[in-house]
Amino acid sequence: TTAQIGVTGLAVMGSNLARNFARNGYTVAVHNRTASRTHALVEEHGSEGDFIAAETAKEFVAALERPRRLVIMVKAGDPTDAVIQEFAPLLEPGDMIIDGGNAHFADTRRRERELREKGIHFVGTGISGGEEGALNGPSIMPGGSKESYDSLGPMLEKISAKAKDGAPCVTHVGADGAGHFVKMVHNGIEYADMQLIGEAYQLLRDVAGYSPAQIAEIFRTWNTGRLDSYLIEITAEVLSHVDAATGKPFVDVVVDQAEQKGTGRWTVQIALDLGVPVSGIAEAVFARSLSGHAALREASRGLAGPSATPLSEAEAGAFADRVEQALYASKIVSYTQGFHEIAAAREEYDWDIDLGAVSAIWRGGCIIRAAFLDRIRAAYDARADLPSLLSDETFAREIADAQDDWREVIVAATRQGVPTPGFSAALAYYDALRAERLPAALTQGQRDFFGAHTYRRTDRDGSFHTLWGGDRSEVSA
Ligand code: NDP
Repeated sequence: TTAQIGVTGLAVMGSNLARNFARNGYTVAVHNRTASRTHALVEEHGSEGDFIAAETAKEFVAALERPRRLVIMVKAGDPTDAVIQEFAPLLEPGDMIIDGGNAHFADTRRRERELREKGIHFVGTGISGGEEGALNGPSIMPGGSKESYDSLGPMLEKISAKAKDGAPCVTHVGADGAGHFVKMVHNGIEYADMQLIGEAYQLLRDVAGYSPAQIAEIFRTWNTGRLDSYLIEITAEVLSHVDAATGKPFVDVVVDQAEQKGTGRWTVQIALDLGVPVSGIAEAVFARSLSGHAALREASRGLAGPSATPLSEAEAGAFADRVEQALYASKIVSYTQGFHEIAAAREEYDWDIDLGAVSAIWRGGCIIRAAFLDRIRAAYDARADLPSLLSDETFAREIADAQDDWREVIVAATRQGVPTPGFSAALAYYDALRAERLPAALTQGQRDFFGAHTYRRTDRDGSFHTLWGGDRSEVSA
């Protein structure tokens, strides 16, 4: 017998993905650098489907039907290159290497180019949903050639998560590194979503005076409305959890220093290169970073804050409703920024990315899955060349309805000294975009003054320079 697909790299992600393929009726060749993992997988889960255990790279490749489909699920970075170098010489033109790790899209572009010269399809594939998703259905974001998707697509559609309407959460995102790029932005948006939820929690606690258990109930209510999402759902679970050892709310016994693995940071770094303002995602990355500066925080603890009083019980309920509005409006802005980054990359790298389809495949399996994504898809379906999600009529109207409350929440936060970098950055982005005039005109004047960097005029074409050190007359540059 031959296997329709092979998975090499059998740590938790690779094992679960292999089992997912097997449970869906595919014969799966499995391989790992350390063979004991391969045997352990087959011993523990062999009954779930048809596995072919391979000890060596040669055996592994020989077990695959042609064209071969070989999934790599190893540690991202150098290990991925090492594994490619090991397997590529054993492959033939038309074969496919699918990298499901969290690779940087620039690495994926390089690997795709190098393997294309040998006629091998390299399919950089974003996989979201963690180990649970890998086993039961992840959201899958494959890049690479269209041709490779013709062969792989049906299998990926089978093992992927399904949205509520039954649609598989996978699509051919675009060429070469497009899949890993979109996965990266997904993670950046995830950072922003989590930061906004954190700010909402802090406001409900410190301004409205609710307990973690009460806030969990508020989140549960929100989860039945337009904020319906996996992250809101698990927030309620975490907030209502009580620490067994101390009897205190779990959230009060956890060290308040957030860690990160790097995909949020990549999203911001690439956005800087592309010139795309992703201020909400950036604030989320910085907020995690700030939280980790323990010594700096310790040294700053005595700094003066405002002397404001918390809200009365009667005011708290109305405030919670306002926080919901602020959270929703800020969330729209985060997604607006994330989709802008994808659109800019589409332009830069000539990718044929359908933003509505991207939104649709995030509806199931992944961490940011949410009812909200249906509306983003509807916005792009209605108008594929939408310049920004904020230009969509529905979103614009929702923000119009939310904005007074959004502003009030930020005022209250400022008055009480509760940091809301996510809410505030989102509102600043919104206000800057809708502004008639920005102080960028003054910036241009300053740049022309100290560096003769020139400026454009509102009333005439061309570039101009004012002779600041002389008679201040204007010359054409
Ligand atoms: P790890 O990232 O911990 O990687 C361990 C695996 O990599 C093992 O199979 C190991 O083999 C193999 N490996 C490491 N170095 C080499 C090498 N030089 N040559 C050959 N094999 C090597 O495993 P995970 O299952 O956690 O993650 C796999 C991939 O999936 C990663 O890229 C990760 O970023 C990504 N991931 C994605 C998640 C998601 O939600 N999408 C969640 C978690 C991970 P050995 O057993 O011999 O040491």
